[in-house]
Amino acid sequence: MIPSPDNLSTPPQAPKDIFPAVGCFLVFLILIKVFLFYSLIIRYEPDSPRQGQALKIEIRGAPPWSRLACRFKGKTYPFYITPHGTRRALIPIFAEWKPKTYSLEIEESGWLRWRWIDLKIPISDADFPRRKVYLPTAKMALFSHPEASKAREDMLKALATITPTQLWKGTFEMPVQGKVTSPYGYLRQLSRGAPWKSHLGADLGARKGSEVTAANEGVVVLAARLPLQGGVVIINHGQGVLSAYMHMSKILIQENEFIRKGQRIGLVGSEGLSTAPHLHWGLYLWQVPIDPLEWTKHEF
Ligand SMILES: [Zn+2]
Repeated sequence: MIPSPDNLSTPPQAPKDIFPAVGCFLVFLILIKVFLFYSLIIRYEPDSPRQGQALKIEIRGAPPWSRLACRFKGKTYPFYITPHGTRRALIPIFAEWKPKTYSLEIEESGWLRWRWIDLKIPISDADFPRRKVYLPTAKMALFSHPEASKAREDMLKALATITPTQLWKGTFEMPVQGKVTSPYGYLRQLSRGAPWKSHLGADLGARKGSEVTAANEGVVVLAARLPLQGGVVIINHGQGVLSAYMHMSKILIQENEFIRKGQRIGLVGSEGLSTAPHLHWGLYLWQVPIDPLEWTKHEF
């Protein structure tokens, strides 16, 4: 029998039905891969941070819906997105933390995906020197000044300021052109028999009245005269980073003012718990004092 033209034009039906199903399955596999099986690239430095340094953890490959945080010594630290599109967490290593290996846990949660990644971070010993620095009785009396505890509260409140935007740019600059007379971390005994305490910043020796400039950009969260700290300014650089400038004879800026890197903020003095004109320069990361000089050498 000769087929009619109608029969010839009707193609077989089965293959046409398979293609959409295969297509859907492939799309499904691609979505599973995109949402569940992406991989994170974790980099941290330094490999073995010294007491006083900051540990930088950077993660690449995390999709926008992925939430990241890390835990170190019982505290949780957030990851912020950097201008390069990576996620970055900065963790302070305090001078008084024992040099040994600590666990760092990175937690990731996203669309149907939760993971914990464990890293081992060995903290190395900075080997801080010890020095007896006996203060005159009149200076020691400042500890029992009636406004000392209120001043401490004001300082702690200012240092607890957390804002999510990074305001600092590049490396930090020395706020005073002077020699480091007492570095961060060295152990001091302020009177006979008193406990040894770590120096929580870097002392920069300079003539009385020398200019003090902001180490980096930020917003002033405290500008005050306090019994132990003298003229003090605290600048918030964002993301848990704040710098403090103490013992100044004069303050030249006001609270809530935006300050540029290198802008004049005060004059060197010897007010408060100080025996000679100098600037005590402190750097705080998540309220933990770390070594400010490290931030003049490395960009975070
Ligand atoms: Zn100091």
